Amino acid sequence: MKKIFSWFNESSYVEPLSPACEMCAAGSKMVLLITGLCPSSCFYCPLSLEKSGKDRIFADEWELETEEDTEKLLLEAKYINATGAGITGGDPFVVWKRTQRYITLLKDNFGSDFHIHLYTSGIKNVDKINDFVSAGLDEIRFHPVPNNWDKIKKTQIADTIKKTLETDVDVAIEIPSIPGMENEIFSLVNWADDVGVKWVNLNELEFSETNAEQLKNKGYTLIDDVSSAVKGSQDTAYCVLDMASKNDLDIGIHYCSSSFKDGIQLRNRIKRRAKNIAKKYEIISDDGTLLKGVIFSQKTPLKELYIFLKQEYEIEDDFVFLNKGKNRIEIGLWILEKIAIDLRKKGFECFMIEEYPTADALEVERMPLPL
Ligand code: SF4
Repeated sequence: MKKIFSWFNESSYVEPLSPACEMCAAGSKMVLLITGLCPSSCFYCPLSLEKSGKDRIFADEWELETEEDTEKLLLEAKYINATGAGITGGDPFVVWKRTQRYITLLKDNFGSDFHIHLYTSGIKNVDKINDFVSAGLDEIRFHPVPNNWDKIKKTQIADTIKKTLETDVDVAIEIPSIPGMENEIFSLVNWADDVGVKWVNLNELEFSETNAEQLKNKGYTLIDDVSSAVKGSQDTAYCVLDMASKNDLDIGIHYCSSSFKDGIQLRNRIKRRAKNIAKKYEIISDDGTLLKGVIFSQKTPLKELYIFLKQEYEIEDDFVFLNKGKNRIEIGLWILEKIAIDLRKKGFECFMIEEYPTADALEVERMPLPL
């Protein structure tokens, strides 16, 4: 009987664990969404409206304007001190030339140890697998559709997986943990173990803006009011882990919970990015978000306000910044706390702002100052 290890935030696994999962947990895997195009149409597809069915490229939250915009790709990897990248989609095989090019680019820039894995539905352009392996791909995760889980032997994707096992790349399977499908999943796990697949990754099923209707129509509900996780998905994953443990299989199985993705992977990744991109006037919170003071002006031009602040309060260049893109002055929070009363009297709006250190600088909270 194999031991079931509890990891972070309800995630669990039976050994071995893929290096991709370990790097992901440490926040050192860059998420490269290489296209939103996919030949499959899974009812649970979590891809957002802005990405689903669109040929757009994102390195973490940073959109590349074109395929040639590789500077951002390399910069994002540097900002998070990435030790690897997970190429996702859509399906990377739809844009196989781009995928091959990016694998080569990342390996050339960050070395052969830079771990690259990718996901695929295993439907289109699978004859390109050898090209990816030659470019240095380390791990490939196939995504068979639920109808095939308990009859995987008879499917085309099974042949593709077996052929891939003969190449020099680690082979894994990644699927959502659909409530009530523990037997079908375990059947797939057993087959994967027999043919020599190294790992199965089970994702907690989650509601998203694009799949909510379909999930509701199938009778799935939310686990609670704060999470997007589907009720019963975790129980199914735990049941599969239990069966795998009792059957002493060689294959590693990892259950990736929704809270693990948000609370561990994302949090650790943004902490790494914050350390590299925070300006001197920004404070890094324990969660890796950035805290700063912000001043808006309705009447006075920002340039004039910027000069006034520097002269009137003797603020050094490093601690005040005119953000033209966001049409505001950014300033050390500890400085703004001292002068906010004064600035309010002069008609300026002052706030404490908390933002993600990501390329989209998502605002988490805004509080007026003085408090
Ligand atoms: S294979 Fe992945 S990206 Fe494609 S439809 Fe299914 S869940 Fe969405």
